[in-house]
Order: sequence, then C-alpha cells, then structure tokens
Amino acid sequence: MPDRDALKRMVSDTIDLNRAEIIAFAKDIMDHPETGFKEHRTSEMAARKLDDMSVPYRKQLAITGLKGKLEGRAGPGPSVAILGELDSLLVFEHPCADPETGAAHACGHNAQMGMMLGATMGIRASGVLDHLCGSVVPFAVPAEEFVELEDRMALRSEGKLEFLGGKQELIRLGEFDDVDIAMMCHTASDMGERMFSFGGTSNGHIVKYIQYIGRGAHAGAAPHMGINALNAANLGMAAIHANRETFRERETVRIHGIINKGGEAVNAVPSDVRLEWRVRSSNAEDLVKNNAAVDRCFKAGALAVGAQVKITNIPGYMPLRHDPVLQDVLLDNATALLGRDHILTIPGHRSRGGSTDMGDLSQIMPVCHPYTGGATGPGHSKDYMIADYERAVINPAKIMAMAVVDLLAEDGHKAKEVIQRSVPTMTKDEYVSFQRERAQEELYDGGI
Ligand SMILES: [Zn+2]
Ligand SMILES: [Zn+2]
Repeated sequence: MPDRDALKRMVSDTIDLNRAEIIAFAKDIMDHPETGFKEHRTSEMAARKLDDMSVPYRKQLAITGLKGKLEGRAGPGPSVAILGELDSLLVFEHPCADPETGAAHACGHNAQMGMMLGATMGIRASGVLDHLCGSVVPFAVPAEEFVELEDRMALRSEGKLEFLGGKQELIRLGEFDDVDIAMMCHTASDMGERMFSFGGTSNGHIVKYIQYIGRGAHAGAAPHMGINALNAANLGMAAIHANRETFRERETVRIHGIINKGGEAVNAVPSDVRLEWRVRSSNAEDLVKNNAAVDRCFKAGALAVGAQVKITNIPGYMPLRHDPVLQDVLLDNATALLGRDHILTIPGHRSRGGSTDMGDLSQIMPVCHPYTGGATGPGHSKDYMIADYERAVINPAKIMAMAVVDLLAEDGHKAKEVIQRSVPTMTKDEYVSFQRERAQEELYDGGI
C-alpha cells in the first residue's frame, strides 16, 4: 500500500494533469457571475463536472447548493467537506460584470469553484480513494455575500428560505449533519509575495433592513402636510456617525449601509424610504451593544420629524474560528508545496473586518478557511481580478486534496483526532435556536 506521501503525489500529479480544465472552469464561472441563491448556471456547470467524474450528488439544496459524495474504499470513517462558494457580488462597473444584472466575481468565488473541482478531480481520478476511509464531500454552497436583501426577504416570505445566508440555511436544513470537518480557501489580494495565509478571524454581523414611513404631500405646494421620511433617514444616519467615537478599534467595528429607496418622485414629500444596513463587531457582546446604538439612532431620526420606522434585524454571520489541529494539517501541506517563506500566519484574534458564514459553520464543527494569493485589486471593487490562476486555484486545490489524504488515510486517525479535539461552541440545534432569536422586527412611532 502506498504511504501518505505517495498518495499525495498521486493527487498532486492528477491535478497537474488536469490543470487546463480546472482553470478553464474557474474562468468560465468568472465570465458568468450570478448572485446568491440565483447561481443556477454555476451550480449546473459544477454538476456537469461531477457527472463527468461519475460523482453522485444532490442538487438544489438551499435553492442552488450542490453536494457530491466520494466514498473511500478503505472502510467507514469521518466525512470531510471541501467547500466552494457559488455566488458573485454586485459590482456593475467591474469589467467582467454581467451587463444586465451587475453581478461580478469581485471576491474570487469563481476561483473557489475551480479549486473545489480541482481537489475533487485529484481525489477521484488518482485512485487514492482505494486507500482512504470515510468520505469526501465536494460541496458548492450558495449565497455567502449578504446582498440583495429585499430579494431574499421575498424568498423568505414565500417559504423558500428561513435564513438568508447560504451556509446558515444549509445548516438549518441538516445538510451539514453528515459532515464532520469542513475546509475551503478564499482568494486574497493583500498578501504581497506570500502565497498562502492562515489564522485571523472575521467579524460577526447583524443585517438590518430599515423602512421609514412618512406621509406624502406636494413638495412645493404643501410640504407642511407631509412627513419627510428621507429627512428622518438622514437624521438617523447622522446620529450613527455621531456615535463613531464610542466604537473601539479592538472591536473592529464597521457600521455601514446603503439607501435602497430614497422616495417616490422629486415633487412629492418622500413617504417611503428604505435602507439596508450592516453592524459588524469582533465579539457578540459589542455587536449587541453597537446594534442597540444603531437602533436608537434610526429611531431618533423618526422622532425628529414624527415619522415611523420599521427596523428588521436579520440573523447575520458569526466570527470565524479556525480549528487548530485542522489548520496544522493544511499548514503542513501548504509548507510542503510552497515553502515556509511563502506562508503568512496571522494571530488568531486579528479580524480582517469582513464577515463570512464559514464563521457560523465554525461554531458547530471543526473548519479551516485559509487565504490563497493570486488576486489583485481591492476586494469587492471593480479592480478585483484573479491575476494568477496557479496561485488562486491550483495551489489550494492541491493543498486541500493533500490535506484530505492526511485526514482520511491510515484509518482516518488524523480526522478522528481533529474531531475528538475540536471544541464546538454550540450544537446544530442550539445554533438554529440562537439565530432564530436574533430575527426581530420592531415598529417605532416617532409621531407620538
Ligand atoms: Zn466577499
Ligand atoms: Zn468572498
């Protein structure tokens, strides 16, 4: 029987052999971006690739999710998922944006789809499954980017979703119940000459939808008959800015939003103004405190002009916890492939400021979410591009496939060690209850 190093060479050589197809797939996804819960084509293209490899799968999980299964032939054992996020962002000015929808891969998730395919090919086509126990689950997951809130709230009203983030909803649906360990790699553009980075964390967040309700009237002839909802919103936003000095740097507080609707017509007093807002902090306590401050501010705007404000809080993401044992497995393989000098390690408490639903999954099972180089330009901007597909797709595909060998070879003792030593903060049921409790709606009447 080949040893683990020989098995790793087999997966790595297979990925090299299929390099052109793997990169072409990632580029095709780049050219056909779709936002969360709308990734029908992306999911279908991934399903065709699994068909080509005769990998069984289930599809349309949380609308667009696709979950494959590779059975090891060396006996039962743990299940290891390799995740790839299906969704794009909305960046109309991105050169690869869909001209109709504005969808654009400005966060590199197309590279994730490529690396998930590459790792799956490496494991499936190399023959290593003869020597692995348990199972490997290539899992294409929808809607990591928390955008298009109104569309998702409509899906929720129709009963098609409960939680509005992809992994959140998949957890609720029980699609991670048969997964023991999960990993994925995200592209980054900020690591200079380094090719891979481990560690750090992400912010937790609360997602907010705000509706100011005023009273319409002729803006020229009878503004005294109206209640200006846009003025209320402006005051609410100004009040949030007035609180900024109270936010501590160590909490990596980010409070930001957009106006979805600023009124109906310029010649009428705006009576319906809608905002999508986000409150992020590095820990739950400060998140709750800062969210309460933001609610106070939005109410202050309503109070000032006598409007009403409806505040809808939607369960957001939780901070990311990398499992240390799993991280070491990935780190060892990244080091073997790239050399220690090319790898960055970041202290576990340092938050990147953004948020991910991998954080949610990390509360209930061991996960790791390192970053790989290969991207250029600021994330979520028109300039974010995958410049080096070797770094962005091929390297992480090899590192994850080799990590799977370490986890599931030799009776899966390493995967069992990861599971045994992991310390989840909550069970799946506790997670679902916790998130349900965060869903709140409040109508405040500033006209009283
Ligand atoms: Zn992103
Ligand atoms: Zn992303």
